[in-house]
Amino acid sequence: MIRQTITLRFALIAASLLVAVPAAAKPQTYERGQIFERGMVSAADPRAAEAGAEMLRAGGSATDAAIATMLALSVVEPQSSGIGGGGFYISSDARGRIETIDGRETAPKAAHPQWFWKDGAPMAMRDLVPGGTSVGVPGNLALAAKAHARHGRLPWAKLFQPAIRLARDGWVATPRFRSFLEFAKGSAAFVPEGLALFYNADGTPVAAGSTLRNPAITQTLTMLARKGAKSFYSGSNAKAIVASVNSAPRNPSAMTLADIASYRAKDRAPLCGTYRAYRVCGMGPPSSGETTVFAILGQLERFDLTALGPESPQAWHLIAEAMRLAYADRARYLGDPDFVTVPAIGLVDADYLRQRSMLIDPARTMALVTAGTPPGAEKLVRADMSAGPENGTSHFVAIDKRGNAVTYTSTVESAFGSGLVVGGYYLNNELTDFDIVPEKDGRLTANRVQGGKRPRSSMAPTLVYAPDGKLRLALGAAGGTTIPVQVVKAIIGVIDWKLSAEDAIALHTIYAPEGPTVWVEKGTALEAMIPALNALGHADVRPRQASFKANAVEVIGGKLVGAADRRSEGRAISE
Ligand code: GLU
Repeated sequence: MIRQTITLRFALIAASLLVAVPAAAKPQTYERGQIFERGMVSAADPRAAEAGAEMLRAGGSATDAAIATMLALSVVEPQSSGIGGGGFYISSDARGRIETIDGRETAPKAAHPQWFWKDGAPMAMRDLVPGGTSVGVPGNLALAAKAHARHGRLPWAKLFQPAIRLARDGWVATPRFRSFLEFAKGSAAFVPEGLALFYNADGTPVAAGSTLRNPAITQTLTMLARKGAKSFYSGSNAKAIVASVNSAPRNPSAMTLADIASYRAKDRAPLCGTYRAYRVCGMGPPSSGETTVFAILGQLERFDLTALGPESPQAWHLIAEAMRLAYADRARYLGDPDFVTVPAIGLVDADYLRQRSMLIDPARTMALVTAGTPPGAEKLVRADMSAGPENGTSHFVAIDKRGNAVTYTSTVESAFGSGLVVGGYYLNNELTDFDIVPEKDGRLTANRVQGGKRPRSSMAPTLVYAPDGKLRLALGAAGGTTIPVQVVKAIIGVIDWKLSAEDAIALHTIYAPEGPTVWVEKGTALEAMIPALNALGHADVRPRQASFKANAVEVIGGKLVGAADRRSEGRAISE
C-alpha cells in the first residue's frame, strides 16, 4: 500500500512511503513503545464514551473503541454525527506511526458547479440544507471497515453491541438534545420518519428526560453488524438512500446506486509539523483543518506567548492576526486534492509562514488581509466562508493501554443533516460545504461542486507528540470553521500556557476569519478585553455566545487524563 507522509518542521517536507522519509525530517519515535495502565475514551456524550470504554475493557484496540463510539453517537447524538455522515480518522501506534483515513462524503456523479442553483441564481443556504441535493454519499461505514481491517482486535459485530443496546433498550433525551429538537425542527422533523422518532403527536419535541427508542436504526445496525459495511453500500440500504434523495419533498437529487456502490474511504497523507519542538500531526486536504492549525501556529512561533499569557489582550491580538492570515489562505486554496491542486505543503512551509508572520504588527491590526502565494500555488480564487455555531459534528478520542491512539471527527454537517431519514438515521447535508457560487472574479474556485468530489472540511483531528517523541495530546473539535481555532487554542493552552487539556479547552476563545470582524466569547475575560482590542485597531469586535465542543485525552507522567469541553455534555471515561 502506498501511503504518503508529509512531514514538515515548517521547512522540511517529505512525501514518500511511510518510513522513507529523509533522515533530518524523520519523525522522532519512541522506540520501546508507549503503554498505559488503562485506556481512555473522550466523547461528546457519556454514553458514547462508555461504548468505547466497553470495547477497551473487552480487550479491544483504540480503533475498536473509536468505531463503537462513532456508532453509539449515531444513536444518542443524531443531531451531530452518525452513519449517514462522514468523518476523518487518524491513528497512531505506540511508536508514533500515523495513518489518516478520509471518510468524507462524496458528491454524486451528476453533480456540477451549479448544483445549488435555481432559475439561474444560487439558492440561499437555508433553502439548500433540507432535502436531497445536499446529501453526499456517506463515508463513516467505509472508513470504519478500513480502519477495523487494519487495527481491529475485536470482531466487527461486537463493535455494534453498545449502539444496538442503546437504540433497542432506550436512552434518555438530555436537555441539550431537547434544545436541538426545538431549534432544528425544520431538519429533525423534515420527513415523517424524523417527526415520529423524536416528537410527540402534537408536534412538540419530546421532553428532556424521556426515554427514546429507535427500532429502525436497531435493525440497520443489526444488519451492518451481521453483514458488514458492504451492506451499507448495496442492497436494501443503498436502495433506501437513493429512493429518499431522489424523491425528497424538497431539492430531489439524482444520486444513483452506482454513486453509493463506488464510494471508497481513502488513505491520505498525514500532515505533520512542529510547534516549539512538539510534533503535531493532523488531517490534510480535503480538510482545511490542519493546514489552518499549522498556519496559525507557524505564524505565532516567533512570539513569546508564554510571557504574554492568556489574560493579555496582546496575546489574543497576535492569535487573531495569525487567524486572519490563515483563513485567507484557507478560503483561497483548499479543496479536494483529487480535483484541484492544493498547495498543502507550501501553505505550511516554514519560510512561507515566517514571511506571512512578518505581516503581523504586534501594535496594530492589519488594514487588509489577503491570501498569500505559497510555494506551489496555482492561481485559484478566494471562496466564500461562513461560520456557525457547533451543530452537526462530534469529535472523539480513544487511546488503548498498548499506546495506540485514535482521534476521529464525525459529522452530518448541520444539526440533523439534510433532515432525510433512512433506516432510523439522518442523511448528511455535507455537500453544502462546497462553494455554492463556483467562481469569483471570473475564475473557478477550488471548492466548487463537481461530480464525485469531496467538499472542503474544517475538521481537524490532531495528535501532539512531546519533544521526546511520546504522545502528549490527542484532540479535535466540532464547530464548522471554528474547529481549527479551538484546536489551536487548546495546543497553545497546553504548550505555551502550561494548562491541563481540560482547562485549555475551557479557556475563552477568539475567532478572527479573514474579514475585519473579530468574535470574542461572550461573558468571558475576552469580552472585557474589547476596549484593549479596539485600541490595537480591531474596530469591529463582537461578543458571541459560543457552543464550542472539543474533546481530548492527554498524557501526563505516563498516565492518560481525559478532557471534555465544559460547554458541552461531553465526558472522558476510563477503561
Ligand atoms: N461539516 C463541517 C466540516 O466538515 C463541520 C460542521 C460542524 O462542525 O458543525 O467542516
